[in-house]
Amino acid sequence: MYTMEKRHKLNNIEDLSFPTLYPRCLNLREVYIAVDGQCMPCCDLSIGLGMPWKLFFKEEWNLNYNSMDKILKSIETFSRKIKDTKNSPIKKCSKTCNTPWLNSRNYFHLELSTRCTLQCPKCPRTAWPLTSPTTVFEKTDMKFNHIEAIIKALPSKWRLFLQGSLGDAVFHPQLFDIIRLADRKKILFEMTTASPSRSLKWWEEFYNCYSNPASEIRFSVDGLEDTASIYRKGQDFNKVWASMKLGVKNGKKITWSFIPFSHNEHQIETASKMAKDNGIKFLLSPSNRWDGPEDPFKPKNPQLSANYDRSY
Ligand code: SF4
Repeated sequence: MYTMEKRHKLNNIEDLSFPTLYPRCLNLREVYIAVDGQCMPCCDLSIGLGMPWKLFFKEEWNLNYNSMDKILKSIETFSRKIKDTKNSPIKKCSKTCNTPWLNSRNYFHLELSTRCTLQCPKCPRTAWPLTSPTTVFEKTDMKFNHIEAIIKALPSKWRLFLQGSLGDAVFHPQLFDIIRLADRKKILFEMTTASPSRSLKWWEEFYNCYSNPASEIRFSVDGLEDTASIYRKGQDFNKVWASMKLGVKNGKKITWSFIPFSHNEHQIETASKMAKDNGIKFLLSPSNRWDGPEDPFKPKNPQLSANYDRSY
Protein backbone atom coordinates (compact mmCIF):
# COMPACT_ATOMS: atom_id res chain seq x y z
CA MET A 1 0.00 0.00 0.00
CA TYR A 2 1.29 3.49 -0.86
CA THR A 3 1.63 6.11 1.80
CA MET A 4 0.60 9.68 0.95
CA GLU A 5 4.25 10.58 0.71
CA LYS A 6 4.95 7.80 -1.80
CA ARG A 7 1.91 8.76 -3.85
CA HIS A 8 3.16 12.35 -3.96
CA LYS A 9 6.51 11.15 -5.25
CA LEU A 10 4.89 9.02 -7.93
CA ASN A 11 2.86 11.98 -9.10
CA ASN A 12 6.04 13.94 -9.44
CA ILE A 13 7.61 11.18 -11.50
CA GLU A 14 4.62 11.07 -13.82
CA ASP A 15 4.79 14.83 -14.24
CA LEU A 16 8.30 14.50 -15.59
CA SER A 17 6.98 12.46 -18.53
CA PHE A 18 10.01 10.24 -18.89
CA PRO A 19 9.43 6.69 -20.12
CA THR A 20 11.64 5.17 -17.41
CA LEU A 21 13.16 6.50 -14.22
CA TYR A 22 15.99 4.96 -12.30
CA PRO A 23 16.57 5.09 -8.56
CA ARG A 24 19.86 6.86 -8.98
CA CYS A 25 21.29 10.03 -7.70
CA LEU A 26 22.36 12.93 -9.85
CA ASN A 27 24.98 15.50 -9.24
CA LEU A 28 23.75 18.68 -10.86
CA ARG A 29 26.92 20.69 -11.04
CA GLU A 30 26.16 23.24 -13.70
CA VAL A 31 23.82 24.60 -16.31
CA TYR A 32 25.17 23.28 -19.60
CA ILE A 33 24.64 25.35 -22.74
CA ALA A 34 25.32 23.61 -26.04
CA VAL A 35 26.70 25.43 -29.04
CA ASP A 36 23.25 25.91 -30.63
CA GLY A 37 21.84 27.63 -27.52
CA GLN A 38 20.23 24.48 -26.10
CA CYS A 39 20.33 24.67 -22.29
CA MET A 40 20.33 21.55 -20.14
CA PRO A 41 20.28 20.88 -16.38
CA CYS A 42 23.83 19.50 -16.41
CA CYS A 43 26.33 18.27 -19.00
CA ASP A 44 26.57 14.99 -17.11
CA LEU A 45 23.09 14.29 -18.35
CA SER A 46 23.80 15.31 -21.86
CA ILE A 47 26.71 13.14 -22.91
CA GLY A 48 26.51 9.47 -23.73
CA LEU A 49 26.15 7.92 -27.15
CA GLY A 50 23.60 10.56 -27.94
CA MET A 51 20.72 8.84 -26.13
CA PRO A 52 20.37 10.88 -22.91
CA TRP A 53 20.72 13.98 -25.04
CA LYS A 54 17.33 13.43 -26.61
CA LEU A 55 15.65 13.64 -23.23
CA PHE A 56 16.78 17.17 -22.64
CA PHE A 57 16.19 18.78 -26.00
CA LYS A 58 13.24 20.89 -24.98
CA GLU A 59 12.40 23.70 -27.33
CA GLU A 60 11.53 26.01 -24.45
CA TRP A 61 15.06 25.55 -23.07
CA ASN A 62 16.68 26.79 -26.26
CA LEU A 63 17.94 30.37 -26.47
CA ASN A 64 16.53 30.61 -29.98
CA TYR A 65 13.02 30.33 -28.53
CA ASN A 66 13.15 31.72 -25.00
CA SER A 67 14.98 34.15 -22.74
CA MET A 68 17.73 32.92 -20.44
CA ASP A 69 15.77 34.05 -17.36
CA LYS A 70 12.72 31.97 -18.31
CA ILE A 71 14.88 28.98 -19.21
CA LEU A 72 16.66 29.14 -15.86
CA LYS A 73 13.38 29.23 -13.94
CA SER A 74 12.05 26.26 -15.89
CA ILE A 75 15.26 24.26 -15.33
CA GLU A 76 15.10 25.03 -11.62
CA THR A 77 11.53 23.68 -11.40
CA PHE A 78 12.56 20.58 -13.32
CA SER A 79 15.58 19.98 -11.05
CA ARG A 80 13.45 20.38 -7.93
CA LYS A 81 11.07 17.68 -9.18
CA ILE A 82 13.93 15.31 -9.93
CA LYS A 83 15.40 16.05 -6.52
CA ASP A 84 12.08 15.32 -4.79
CA THR A 85 11.78 11.92 -6.44
CA LYS A 86 15.48 11.03 -6.06
CA ASN A 87 15.06 9.30 -9.41
CA SER A 88 16.99 9.99 -12.56
CA PRO A 89 15.79 9.90 -16.16
CA ILE A 90 19.07 8.27 -17.16
CA LYS A 91 20.54 5.05 -15.91
CA LYS A 92 24.08 6.29 -15.58
CA CYS A 93 25.57 9.67 -16.23
CA SER A 94 29.06 10.06 -17.57
CA LYS A 95 30.85 11.31 -14.48
CA THR A 96 28.78 11.11 -11.36
CA CYS A 97 27.25 7.66 -11.16
CA ASN A 98 26.48 6.67 -7.58
CA THR A 99 27.58 9.90 -5.97
CA PRO A 100 25.36 11.38 -3.26
CA TRP A 101 22.65 13.77 -4.40
CA LEU A 102 23.99 17.24 -4.85
CA ASN A 103 22.37 20.24 -6.42
CA SER A 104 25.18 22.66 -6.02
CA ARG A 105 25.39 24.37 -9.36
CA ASN A 106 27.44 27.50 -9.48
CA TYR A 107 28.49 27.86 -13.06
CA PHE A 108 27.32 28.01 -16.65
CA HIS A 109 29.20 25.58 -18.84
CA LEU A 110 29.37 26.89 -22.40
CA GLU A 111 30.18 24.83 -25.45
CA LEU A 112 31.53 27.78 -27.44
CA SER A 113 32.57 25.88 -30.55
CA THR A 114 32.40 22.40 -32.01
CA ARG A 115 35.58 22.96 -33.98
CA CYS A 116 38.88 21.34 -33.19
CA THR A 117 41.90 20.33 -35.24
CA LEU A 118 43.00 17.53 -32.90
CA GLN A 119 41.64 14.00 -33.04
CA CYS A 120 41.66 12.53 -29.55
CA PRO A 121 40.39 8.96 -29.96
CA LYS A 122 37.99 9.05 -27.01
CA CYS A 123 36.55 12.50 -27.67
CA PRO A 124 32.83 12.28 -28.55
CA ARG A 125 33.50 14.33 -31.71
CA THR A 126 35.97 11.68 -32.87
CA ALA A 127 34.21 8.59 -31.55
CA TRP A 128 30.48 9.18 -31.79
CA PRO A 129 29.47 11.64 -34.52
CA LEU A 130 27.77 8.98 -36.60
CA THR A 131 25.64 7.71 -33.72
CA SER A 132 24.30 11.02 -32.45
CA PRO A 133 20.59 11.57 -33.13
CA THR A 134 21.11 15.34 -33.15
CA THR A 135 23.06 17.89 -35.11
CA VAL A 136 25.37 18.80 -32.22
CA PHE A 137 28.42 17.50 -34.05
CA GLU A 138 28.10 19.98 -36.91
CA LYS A 139 30.99 22.42 -36.97
CA THR A 140 29.63 25.64 -35.63
CA ASP A 141 30.11 28.36 -32.99
CA MET A 142 27.80 29.79 -30.33
CA LYS A 143 26.05 32.98 -31.44
CA PHE A 144 27.49 36.09 -29.83
CA ASN A 145 24.04 37.41 -28.89
CA HIS A 146 23.40 34.15 -26.99
CA ILE A 147 26.66 34.62 -25.11
CA GLU A 148 25.69 38.19 -24.19
CA ALA A 149 22.31 36.95 -22.88
CA ILE A 150 24.00 34.17 -20.88
CA ILE A 151 26.50 36.56 -19.29
CA LYS A 152 23.71 39.00 -18.45
CA ALA A 153 21.68 36.26 -16.71
CA LEU A 154 24.59 34.70 -14.79
CA PRO A 155 23.61 34.69 -11.10
CA SER A 156 26.04 36.63 -8.92
CA LYS A 157 29.07 34.68 -7.71
CA TRP A 158 28.54 32.08 -10.46
CA ARG A 159 31.38 31.42 -12.92
CA LEU A 160 31.66 30.83 -16.62
CA PHE A 161 33.17 27.52 -17.56
CA LEU A 162 34.37 27.40 -21.15
CA GLN A 163 35.00 23.79 -21.90
CA GLY A 164 34.11 21.93 -25.02
CA SER A 165 32.89 18.39 -24.97
CA LEU A 166 32.74 18.53 -28.75
CA GLY A 167 35.26 21.22 -29.64
CA ASP A 168 37.80 23.68 -28.28
CA ALA A 169 36.82 27.18 -27.13
CA VAL A 170 39.87 28.71 -28.81
CA PHE A 171 38.13 28.28 -32.18
CA HIS A 172 35.28 30.67 -31.43
CA PRO A 173 35.87 33.54 -33.89
CA GLN A 174 34.94 36.15 -31.24
CA LEU A 175 36.67 34.57 -28.25
CA PHE A 176 38.66 37.73 -27.49
CA ASP A 177 35.40 39.78 -27.38
CA ILE A 178 33.79 37.16 -25.09
CA ILE A 179 36.72 37.21 -22.67
CA ARG A 180 36.81 41.03 -22.68
CA LEU A 181 33.06 41.14 -22.00
CA ALA A 182 33.32 38.68 -19.07
CA ASP A 183 36.26 40.59 -17.63
CA ARG A 184 34.45 43.94 -17.96
CA LYS A 185 31.51 42.45 -16.02
CA LYS A 186 33.96 41.12 -13.38
CA ILE A 187 32.94 37.54 -14.12
CA LEU A 188 35.36 34.82 -13.20
CA PHE A 189 35.95 32.31 -15.97
CA GLU A 190 37.75 29.05 -16.36
CA MET A 191 38.70 27.87 -19.83
CA THR A 192 39.97 24.40 -20.72
CA THR A 193 41.91 23.99 -23.93
CA ALA A 194 44.33 21.64 -25.65
CA SER A 195 45.52 24.73 -27.55
CA PRO A 196 45.13 23.18 -30.97
CA SER A 197 46.68 25.22 -33.80
CA ARG A 198 47.17 28.34 -31.67
CA SER A 199 50.39 30.34 -31.88
CA LEU A 200 52.31 32.20 -29.19
CA LYS A 201 51.23 35.47 -30.82
CA TRP A 202 47.58 34.39 -30.50
CA TRP A 203 48.07 33.56 -26.81
CA GLU A 204 49.80 36.89 -26.17
CA GLU A 205 46.71 38.67 -27.51
CA PHE A 206 44.41 36.36 -25.54
CA TYR A 207 46.17 37.02 -22.21
CA ASN A 208 45.83 40.75 -22.86
CA CYS A 209 42.02 40.42 -22.96
CA TYR A 210 41.51 40.00 -19.20
CA SER A 211 42.91 41.25 -15.94
CA ASN A 212 41.32 39.14 -13.20
CA PRO A 213 44.18 37.00 -11.84
CA ALA A 214 41.69 34.43 -10.46
CA SER A 215 40.43 33.48 -13.93
CA GLU A 216 42.10 30.27 -14.97
CA ILE A 217 43.28 28.59 -18.16
CA ARG A 218 43.60 24.82 -17.99
CA PHE A 219 45.80 23.28 -20.63
CA SER A 220 45.05 19.65 -21.44
CA VAL A 221 48.45 18.08 -22.02
CA ASP A 222 48.68 14.35 -21.41
CA GLY A 223 52.39 13.65 -21.26
CA LEU A 224 55.69 15.19 -22.31
CA GLU A 225 57.30 15.93 -25.67
CA ASP A 226 57.50 12.24 -26.67
CA THR A 227 54.02 11.18 -25.47
CA ALA A 228 51.59 14.13 -25.41
CA SER A 229 50.42 13.64 -28.99
CA ILE A 230 49.78 9.89 -28.60
CA TYR A 231 46.33 10.71 -27.26
CA ARG A 232 46.01 14.41 -28.25
CA LYS A 233 46.63 13.56 -31.87
CA GLY A 234 48.07 16.60 -33.63
CA GLN A 235 49.15 18.49 -30.49
CA ASP A 236 52.59 20.14 -30.49
CA PHE A 237 53.88 19.80 -26.91
CA ASN A 238 56.61 22.45 -27.18
CA LYS A 239 54.26 25.03 -28.62
CA VAL A 240 51.65 24.45 -25.92
CA TRP A 241 54.26 24.43 -23.16
CA ALA A 242 55.58 27.81 -24.39
CA SER A 243 52.00 29.18 -24.37
CA MET A 244 51.54 28.02 -20.77
CA LYS A 245 54.77 29.66 -19.63
CA LEU A 246 53.77 32.83 -21.47
CA GLY A 247 50.57 32.87 -19.38
CA VAL A 248 52.57 32.74 -16.15
CA LYS A 249 54.84 35.52 -17.45
CA ASN A 250 51.70 37.59 -18.04
CA GLY A 251 50.56 37.01 -14.42
CA LYS A 252 47.79 34.53 -15.32
CA LYS A 253 46.63 31.46 -13.42
CA ILE A 254 47.70 28.47 -15.50
CA THR A 255 46.92 24.83 -14.80
CA TRP A 256 48.35 21.73 -16.46
CA SER A 257 45.61 19.12 -16.65
CA PHE A 258 47.14 15.68 -17.24
CA ILE A 259 45.12 12.54 -18.04
CA PRO A 260 47.09 9.45 -17.01
CA PHE A 261 47.30 6.78 -19.72
CA SER A 262 49.39 3.62 -20.00
CA HIS A 263 51.89 5.50 -22.21
CA ASN A 264 52.45 8.45 -19.85
CA GLU A 265 51.86 7.24 -16.29
CA HIS A 266 55.63 6.98 -15.72
CA GLN A 267 55.98 10.72 -16.52
CA ILE A 268 53.61 12.12 -13.92
CA GLU A 269 56.31 13.00 -11.43
CA THR A 270 58.50 14.75 -14.02
CA ALA A 271 55.54 16.69 -15.40
CA SER A 272 54.39 17.72 -11.95
CA LYS A 273 57.90 18.99 -11.10
CA MET A 274 58.14 20.87 -14.42
CA ALA A 275 54.84 22.56 -13.64
CA LYS A 276 55.85 23.49 -10.10
CA ASP A 277 59.22 24.85 -11.23
CA ASN A 278 57.43 27.14 -13.69
CA GLY A 279 54.64 28.51 -11.45
CA ILE A 280 51.99 26.25 -13.01
CA LYS A 281 49.43 24.26 -11.03
CA PHE A 282 49.48 20.53 -11.83
CA LEU A 283 46.20 18.65 -11.92
CA LEU A 284 45.95 14.92 -12.45
CA SER A 285 42.63 14.26 -14.22
CA PRO A 286 41.88 10.50 -14.31
CA SER A 287 39.61 9.62 -17.20
CA ASN A 288 36.46 7.50 -17.13
CA ARG A 289 36.32 7.00 -20.88
CA TRP A 290 37.47 3.39 -21.04
CA ASP A 291 36.33 0.79 -23.50
CA GLY A 292 36.29 -2.00 -20.92
CA PRO A 293 39.04 -3.29 -18.61
CA GLU A 294 41.35 -4.29 -21.50
CA ASP A 295 41.46 -0.81 -23.04
CA PRO A 296 45.14 -0.35 -24.08
CA PHE A 297 45.04 3.32 -23.07
CA LYS A 298 44.10 2.45 -19.47
CA PRO A 299 46.92 3.07 -16.96
CA LYS A 300 48.42 -0.02 -15.41
CA ASN A 301 48.10 1.57 -11.99
CA PRO A 302 44.36 1.19 -11.21
CA GLN A 303 44.48 4.22 -8.94
CA LEU A 304 45.12 6.40 -11.98
CA SER A 305 41.83 5.74 -13.74
CA ALA A 306 38.26 6.43 -12.76
CA ASN A 307 36.72 3.11 -11.82
CA TYR A 308 34.01 2.76 -14.44
CA ASP A 309 33.97 2.63 -18.19
CA ARG A 310 31.98 4.66 -20.70
CA SER A 311 29.49 2.03 -21.77
CA TYR A 312 25.90 3.10 -21.05
S1 SF4 B 1 41.21 18.54 -27.96
FE1 SF4 B 1 39.19 18.30 -26.97
S2 SF4 B 1 37.68 18.76 -28.57
FE2 SF4 B 1 39.67 18.44 -29.60
S3 SF4 B 1 39.60 16.27 -30.22
FE3 SF4 B 1 40.63 16.39 -28.21
S4 SF4 B 1 39.03 16.09 -26.63
FE4 SF4 B 1 38.02 16.56 -28.62
